[in-house]
Amino acid sequence: MTEKKKITVAKGDGIGPEIMDATLDILFAAGAAIEVEEVEVGEKVYLAGNTAGIAKEAWDIIRRNKVFLKAPITTPQGGGYKSLNVTTRKFLGLYANVRPCTSLHPFVQTKHPVMDIVIIRENEEDLYAGIEHQQTDEVVQCLKLISRPGCEKIVRYAFEYAKQYGRKKVTCFTKDNIMKQTDGLFHKVFDEIAKEYPEIENEHWIIDIGAAKMADTPEAFDVIVMPNLYGDVLSDVAAQITGSVGLAGSANIGEECAMFEAIHGSAPRRAGQNAANPSGLLQGAVMMLNHIGQNDVAEKIQNAWLKTIEDGIHTYDIYKEGTSKQKSGTKEFAKAVIDNLGKKPAALKEVHYANGKTLNLPKYKPRKPQLKELVGVDVFVHCAGITPNELAKQVEQLNTGELKLTMITNRGIKVYPDGFPETFCTDHWRCRFKPVIGSTITRQQIVELLQKAIDKNIDTIKTENLYAFDGIPAFSLGQGQ
Ligand code: NAD
Repeated sequence: MTEKKKITVAKGDGIGPEIMDATLDILFAAGAAIEVEEVEVGEKVYLAGNTAGIAKEAWDIIRRNKVFLKAPITTPQGGGYKSLNVTTRKFLGLYANVRPCTSLHPFVQTKHPVMDIVIIRENEEDLYAGIEHQQTDEVVQCLKLISRPGCEKIVRYAFEYAKQYGRKKVTCFTKDNIMKQTDGLFHKVFDEIAKEYPEIENEHWIIDIGAAKMADTPEAFDVIVMPNLYGDVLSDVAAQITGSVGLAGSANIGEECAMFEAIHGSAPRRAGQNAANPSGLLQGAVMMLNHIGQNDVAEKIQNAWLKTIEDGIHTYDIYKEGTSKQKSGTKEFAKAVIDNLGKKPAALKEVHYANGKTLNLPKYKPRKPQLKELVGVDVFVHCAGITPNELAKQVEQLNTGELKLTMITNRGIKVYPDGFPETFCTDHWRCRFKPVIGSTITRQQIVELLQKAIDKNIDTIKTENLYAFDGIPAFSLGQGQ
């Protein structure tokens, strides 16, 4: 007998308690070796004055048990309340968001009858690091941070996932034709790690055409891995085009902890009516069982659930006259799944998970540091009502014997030298200084340059050092340079 795994459960708000009870009934009936420890999170905690929606004691339990099954919660209206999902993901380092999107044609209506894809989204970095600043009257910025460990962990997760679940191909989506450093790193790491999995096909698509293809011909894809923002958008698109967002579950995986949930919200208007569909949360719970190595139980539940859907036993949200046979409530749906345990679907594809394994995810090993060389500096300047040539004249006052202004861009477009008068300019300028040929640059020279800017009354906002790593310049050129 498998040793019981203690898991943390939050029943959440709205329809949460009903769908959680239904889900747990199915898990226990299927023989899941779990012990439940419940925590209170969400609306009540928020309204008691805790703006995070979770108390310290709940954190302690979640961190101790490491596996968290969470029903949807209601974030109260009004400012000041922090999203519990985002907080949990960040605090627990849940770097991978996994969302299987499978259509259940012909039992749930969809334009894409043979869709069966898994979106694996990087969950911690990218534009979601939350580092934003207003820099001038006209310009704000958000830093897009992509790290090598972040890329390695998520890409490896995608390949290991594909291996574990017998999937044939992993596709990477980025926009590295534009963001050569950030998305470029993600793509590069993808190519490196793909080599370690020769048995799995790999490919890369530029995100725009890749997204269009996914929305039009999802059957062309299997597992798709991508940075955070793209994954946020496309995982919703993918879930939606299967025919029902209400049927999808999601896993958030970290090195230590993991959280499993439905992708829908707490549907407060449906609460307490025994009407909600527990399938989304059940799908999250199936992923949880696979995660903790109880693949046989996960497989049994998933096949019973597929059989129930195929039998036409449907909650109101997917009920369709003609296709459905019986409109059922939450409890009756759960009972039907329990009655089907041990049975297999006939028309829908039966699943096979039962290999008793969990994913093999080695810890990130830092690489040998590269040779880092300072080769210039971008000085950002706030200046309104000026032409690029006039600004260049002012900024050239900062030139030293070795360090010279070589270029000015405005929102990334080169406007000096040889800019076009048609280019619209804001009050936010990037002035690039590079050493003259044959000389080098030091950080001391940058400090001197900034001191000179103060003396000349030039409003510098910030600097970015320009580096070469192992001799390769590691910064973007100006557009048009
Ligand atoms: P929602 O997903 O709760 O509801 C959208 C629509 O789908 C509604 O018509 C609802 O009745 C229906 N629906 C959702 N789940 C269903 C189910 N299991 N069975 C049947 N019908 C279902 O989205 P919303 O109305 O925008 O948000 C309601 C609350 O949920 C908000 O407070 C929001 O902040 C929260 N929310 C929480 C999470 C989470 O905890 N992970 C995610 C999204 C939204």
